[in-house]
Amino acid sequence: MRIIVVGAGIGGLTTALALLRAGHEVEVVERAAGFGEVGAGLQAGPNATRVLHSLGLAAALEPVAVSPVATRFLRWDNDTVLTEWPLAGQIDVKYGAPYHTLYRPDLIDVLAAALPPDVVRFQRTVTAVDYWDTRPVLRFADGTAEIADIVVGADGIRSAVRGSTVEETTAPFSGMCAYRAMVRADESPEPSVRIWLGLHRHLVAYPAGRYLNLVCVVPATDWPAESWTVPGSLAELRANFRGWSPQLNELLDHVRERVYRWGRYDREPLSHWSTATTTLIGDACPPMLPFLAQAIEDGAATAHGTHPAPVLGEQRAFPSARRTRTSTARQSTRQRRGDER
Ligand SMILES: Cc1cc2nc3c(=O)[nH]c(=O)nc-3n(C[C@H](O)[C@H](O)[C@H](O)COP(=O)(O)OP(=O)(O)OC[C@H]3O[C@@H](n4cnc5c(N)ncnc54)[C@H](O)[C@@H]3O)c2cc1C
Repeated sequence: MRIIVVGAGIGGLTTALALLRAGHEVEVVERAAGFGEVGAGLQAGPNATRVLHSLGLAAALEPVAVSPVATRFLRWDNDTVLTEWPLAGQIDVKYGAPYHTLYRPDLIDVLAAALPPDVVRFQRTVTAVDYWDTRPVLRFADGTAEIADIVVGADGIRSAVRGSTVEETTAPFSGMCAYRAMVRADESPEPSVRIWLGLHRHLVAYPAGRYLNLVCVVPATDWPAESWTVPGSLAELRANFRGWSPQLNELLDHVRERVYRWGRYDREPLSHWSTATTTLIGDACPPMLPFLAQAIEDGAATAHGTHPAPVLGEQRAFPSARRTRTSTARQSTRQRRGDER
């Protein structure tokens, strides 16, 4: 059976690895010329780390994963700790897997290193999927086509596979945007996740590899692009937090890397995301507000059959377990409705 995963992001690579471990043959096609250097931090809760560990990646993650001691909620103007959730040493006991924060390119490297070298083919941009009888045919930007038995669309927010798999839904703007910025960890070392809360704004800072990742959520009226790679302005970011606490402003003083600005859109859950031979995972699915490491979970579910029925050879609707789980996850992300990545 020929399974082609479209997209070598975190979701696609996790899916490929999980499928290989489950005994399937798999290929990944990726638009970029190589594995991405772009990206900042990711928080991976026990739902994600459990999957990564089950794929045999615990030792490879060890040198790059951070285990924050706690999540601290701080008052916006004077750094008073409002409440604190213990993490390291507690969450792993409670859930049987740790809470990690990671630098996104490090996680991509760990996943990529676990795959045989010829699994991922770069510079293969999919433009659409159509069908030859029931078999999916991938159409590529260079005019070529490939036929598969199963296609997994792991091609992110602007998925080309999605349009051929489900009806596109509208994406209401949440009224928020997030500035993403990085500070070198040695300039401002801190072993916890910190969240400063203020009126209509909050700022999350957490260690991610050799950086501290800052996600700064503010109101927006201009419908900014839903993209990880659109540059933002440091001056604008700073203006949004003028008058906030000394600790927070000291952090912003240390920002030397490029700032990004990302519009936050939220979508209603899909009633389905698979045809008999094609399925969507991760941000292609489409994205929910991103707090719960769903792409990693989706990858494992795909290989173990709770996600797209076809991969298991069941040619009927996918089991309700995954739909219930993703609906619950989407509700949780809405309750949080503050970006913690
Ligand atoms: C450049 C980039 C930077 C990011 N930075 C952050 C960050 O700083 N913090 C954070 O929390 N999350 C970040 N994310 C998103 C985060 O990785 C995802 O939200 C999450 O992990 C879901 O992963 P995914 O694999 O579903 O999608 P993505 O991570 O978006 O991966 C999709 C992959 O598919 C490829 N692709 C897209 N279209 C096509 C096509 N037509 N044909 C072939 N391949 C295609 C893309 O090049 C990409 O490699 C970033 C994503 C990207 C792409």
